[in-house]
Amino acid sequence: MKYFGAHVSASGGVENAISNAQAIGATAFALFTKNQRQWVAPSLTQHQIDIFVSACRNSGYAATQILPHDSYLINLGHPDQEGLDKSRDAFFEEMLRCQQLGLDRLNFHPGSHLKRISEEGSLERIAESINMALDRTQGVTAVLENTAGQGSNLGYRFEHLAYIIERVEDKSRVGVCIDTCHSFAAGYDLRTKEACDATFAEFDRIIGFNYLRGMHLNDAMRPLGSRIDRHSPLGDGEIGWECFRYIAEDARFDNIPLILETPDESRWAEEIATLNKFANQ
Ligand SMILES: [Zn+2]
Ligand SMILES: [Zn+2]
Repeated sequence: MKYFGAHVSASGGVENAISNAQAIGATAFALFTKNQRQWVAPSLTQHQIDIFVSACRNSGYAATQILPHDSYLINLGHPDQEGLDKSRDAFFEEMLRCQQLGLDRLNFHPGSHLKRISEEGSLERIAESINMALDRTQGVTAVLENTAGQGSNLGYRFEHLAYIIERVEDKSRVGVCIDTCHSFAAGYDLRTKEACDATFAEFDRIIGFNYLRGMHLNDAMRPLGSRIDRHSPLGDGEIGWECFRYIAEDARFDNIPLILETPDESRWAEEIATLNKFANQ
């Protein structure tokens, strides 16, 4: 099965994400389980958890169709001990919230070296941060997202993600989410069927499809290799529809959340309908 959706608003309560997803015909969705611009949030109450879990069940969203995203403040590869500890505490809290809500994966950006330590040094910290969070939680997979490589953000090469995975002790609870805009910005071409074949063959060789736990489907405003992260609606950017048709038709992308983070929310229902049309042809 193909599960298409979008990163929907959970403002007013996590359970609101479910009705927002249903309203656009989504069979998958992404959400923040807390305010993504703040370090701390009140703990989830049992009542909130019960409402979310029963709403998911009633609406037919299984954990495999939901891809929560963590706060943008967290940097698991932080060069300073204080910043690292703060990020590790916040990441543990995010993993715990997922566990409490019955969710089985948490999507996050690997981290940044902030030009103060080496790439390898920062990647090693990220792996250690993941190990620490996995030790303290159960049933939630840490899902590394590839990045555009803007600033000092790591994760723009498939090799970065492979380097981290290699150092994670429990390989059954680490995975990846590939963002098409980030890949393209990082220099992985996706404009034609041949380009998609080559990029995903490289992905399979360096990381492996067995680690793929989700995709972000975004077109790219900037050209190939720009290292600038600017999303466009599908078909409006430099990548074009051919890539999204390719993903919709290819069984290697079955049974994982395929999530739009495209800028114009009013077009999500139409984008999802077009993706479903390709998948069902
Ligand atoms: Zn992201
Ligand atoms: Zn993304």
